[in-house]
Amino acid sequence: MHQSDLRQGNLFVVSGPSGAGKGTLVAHLLQELPDAWVSVSVTTRKPRKDEIEGKQYFFVDDAHFDALIEQDALLEWAYVYGGCRYGTLRKTVEEHIACGQQVILEIDVQGAFQVKEKMPAAHLVFIEPPDLTVLEKRLRGRGTETQEMIEKRLDTAKVELSQKMEYDVRLINDDLDEAVAELVSFINECAD
Ligand code: 5GP
Repeated sequence: MHQSDLRQGNLFVVSGPSGAGKGTLVAHLLQELPDAWVSVSVTTRKPRKDEIEGKQYFFVDDAHFDALIEQDALLEWAYVYGGCRYGTLRKTVEEHIACGQQVILEIDVQGAFQVKEKMPAAHLVFIEPPDLTVLEKRLRGRGTETQEMIEKRLDTAKVELSQKMEYDVRLINDDLDEAVAELVSFINECAD
């Protein structure tokens, strides 16, 4: 069979405030849809304890990130929470879509809108926390961020929540199993 005989996959962009549970949701999603593929972004943020190069992110310095922009290797990129840059590697995303896979990008709202502009067929999914108090509790519970970083993430969360109506669907991550089921059925509907 030729590559051109294969059905193209679809692109799904999952965004939502830090602490809304996107990571957990996507991890559970992969158990339900093992053929889906989650893109690994490039970032200038320093790795956290337990993070592994090439698993959560490809960790690069500013010069490397500049070179990727210069080479047009990024489908989208943005400054998230001030100082650090995050971006999606264009080539791997295109390759996995061409192979017929359901491709998931877990990226911020600025990146999501850039993707929609370049690939209008992309489906944008916004994950909402039940409310801001729950969000703050989850952020503090992680214990990975300083007080200042938590404040910054909460401020950004408010801005992100104000843009949720621009997304194709919104899922409230109150009950994890329910949110996973809703996301799986949305992906399956789009793939039909
Ligand atoms: P964290 O530092 O907690 O891993 O991620 C911070 C934020 O960066 C999250 O909201 C995540 O969605 C966003 N992010 C991760 N990768 C990318 C990316 O490639 N592009 C953009 N625009 N945002 C990203």
